[in-house]
Amino acid sequence: MAGGSGVVLPQLWGQEKGSQTVTAMLRSVSWTFRGLHCSSVPLSARVNSKRADRSCALAEKVAVITGSTKGIGFAIAWRLAQDGAHVVVSSRKQQNVDRAVAVLQGEGLSVTGTVCHVGKAKDRERLVATALEHCGGVDFLVCVAGVNPLVGSTLGASEQVWNKILDVNVKAPALLLSQLLPHMENRRGSSVVLVSSMVAYVPVPKLGVYNTSKTALLGLCKSLAVELAPKGIRVNCLVPGIIKTEFIQVEKTLPYLLRDFNEVYGLQWFGEPEECAGIVSFLCSSDASYITGENIVVAGYSPKL
Ligand code: NAP
Repeated sequence: MAGGSGVVLPQLWGQEKGSQTVTAMLRSVSWTFRGLHCSSVPLSARVNSKRADRSCALAEKVAVITGSTKGIGFAIAWRLAQDGAHVVVSSRKQQNVDRAVAVLQGEGLSVTGTVCHVGKAKDRERLVATALEHCGGVDFLVCVAGVNPLVGSTLGASEQVWNKILDVNVKAPALLLSQLLPHMENRRGSSVVLVSSMVAYVPVPKLGVYNTSKTALLGLCKSLAVELAPKGIRVNCLVPGIIKTEFIQVEKTLPYLLRDFNEVYGLQWFGEPEECAGIVSFLCSSDASYITGENIVVAGYSPKL
């Protein structure tokens, strides 16, 4: 299936590909080298140059990203690091963190990582501590981690399911941000990006609790944007459509979906994770300095007016 960007991150986590093959593929991607170029330019030159390289838009910044060892989060980590940021990657499994850090560092990008299950307070504390230990402060928080343990009726969902989905998808971003806030508010141009979903606008049957959590994130984005504006911190929401990741495995589980969406919305392909990454880099950058409380759809179609 054709992708829109023409640049596709390898499926690193299908381990049938050897690491050498993966590395070779990555080296063939031209934008890989922007990060290397970026980090080799002295800060003074970057700041003073009128012909500033846009790929260094996040130079000297620090980004903490949850759920960033695979899929959309990994693509965002890669992009922010290429654009000059130091990135702290994280997810629940140590082996996934180690692999993501190794791949990104192997490309010369500035990355550290730690285990963080965002639903666990101790893990959130460790993520904050890791960021501070390595970087002294944080400029960007990108909350990607999300779960959906239930396919079934909303009213049939157990309290345990409700708690898990709301804890991870909605409460964790707010709780993590409250821990990071003292370390973000004194830095110029701090920014938060939450990851919602198109299901927030167009609910998918049998995903009612998940749909609800993603709609709640839009509300959280609006409230935090107002609350944090006096501190100079912007808060926006990425709203992905159907993106090909392990989370959804759309081509295997929903083979007719593309045809259906094509008929109704003119959708041409399902998105690749990296097609969500550039907009996050933009939202973090100073080019987005007057954008806050906004929801940006990346879906290959739009249900909005
Ligand atoms: P994915 O490919 O399955 O990757 C999920 C990532 O999050 C992995 O790195 C995973 O690593 C980590 N993770 C899972 N649960 C976590 C937790 N409780 N705490 C910390 N990290 C956790 O998923 P994805 O498709 O990229 O989805 C990422 C986000 O985009 C989710 O919030 C999802 O709701 C949203 N989204 C996805 C789509 C889509 O079509 N794919 C569409 C709209 C919105 P570990 O296993 O090591 O924890």
